[in-house]
Amino acid sequence: MELESLYYRLTVPDAAARERLLAAFAHEADGAAVLHRETAAFAAYGSAAQPLFSRLPIPYRVVPQSARTALLRALYRRAERRIGDAAWPRWPVERSLDDARASAWAHAAARGGIVARTPAWPGGRAPLLITHDIDSAADLSRIAPIRALEREIGVASSFGFVPRLSWPARAAVEALVDEGCEVYLHDIGHDGRLPYAGPAAIAAAFDAVFREHAWARPLMCGFRAGQLLTSPALRRVVADWFDYDLSIPDTERGGPYGDAAGCGTVFPFLDGSLVEIPLTLPQDVYLRHVYGLTAGQALEMWRRKLDHIVSVGGVAVLNVHPVWVNPARPDMWQAYRTFLAEARADARLWITTPSSVVAALHALGDAARTDADAGVDTGVDMPHAAAG
Ligand SMILES: [Zn+2]
Repeated sequence: MELESLYYRLTVPDAAARERLLAAFAHEADGAAVLHRETAAFAAYGSAAQPLFSRLPIPYRVVPQSARTALLRALYRRAERRIGDAAWPRWPVERSLDDARASAWAHAAARGGIVARTPAWPGGRAPLLITHDIDSAADLSRIAPIRALEREIGVASSFGFVPRLSWPARAAVEALVDEGCEVYLHDIGHDGRLPYAGPAAIAAAFDAVFREHAWARPLMCGFRAGQLLTSPALRRVVADWFDYDLSIPDTERGGPYGDAAGCGTVFPFLDGSLVEIPLTLPQDVYLRHVYGLTAGQALEMWRRKLDHIVSVGGVAVLNVHPVWVNPARPDMWQAYRTFLAEARADARLWITTPSSVVAALHALGDAARTDADAGVDTGVDMPHAAAG
């Protein structure tokens, strides 16, 4: 499958101009280097050896969650990981690839007489997607307080459900969708095995879910793998079944791959027909329980990363787990409330759902063709930090 960063479409929406520029870009040293780095970073994520926990004869989920978190914390410490280390992708902000792309693309555009604008999101606002992975049956009852908080602040969010662990009632999903929320499929058993099951078995698992729950098929057009554990085979089948995937972090420390992992970009990319939207804000459980930050420090990490994403015009994606962020954990609950309230008041942000981002990217292509015919430039400028 052909991989393409959507940065190119966002900055040069006209398809003919973009293709011309991409062809020239690929033949320049700087451009070719960027394209190579994009592909290599993407291919590396999910191509590592199958993690030990997913090969155990018993499902890793029988280990109590607190013990699992303690184990992750111990592994993180043993690897002598610390925030700010130099491994690639750097954490929490990795900007070298996005900066190199912006710089090389701008130079190529200037040489080719093409205007590359700042990323043209609707209304000139960078998307912020709030997602919630519902990892257990107990989490189903934690949706109501999360939604009450989000409703109070005035934002929609998206929920991922695990067929074998946390499958929701149809009415509950329809109520979420009615208030502007979205739902996606979150793995099958959340046991770390799906990526290694082989394409036919993965497709059969998706097929079984949507045959049993046909009502969910039109509502679930996206996917996220459990533990962000993916593989080339899983991605290939996900592309057949879904419009978008949320399974790859831009940068993460101490995750299932044990080390520094991620695609190193805060821009979505096309993998064949699949829109891959990287998870770009650090996850609650890692910040608070694996890296051992306070809730205040976790909030500061979210703010800092969000600022970076907005400054380059990427997509901010937050994954808040109801098991880690709920009223019974007041410190993280308050941090989440503050983050949401600040984001809601931030005129630079478009708080939306993954499908809306996918639709905007498609519409951008369509509109650009029309605009180009009419000779109109509807580009909306965004605050943009190029290289440096
Ligand atoms: Zn999960």
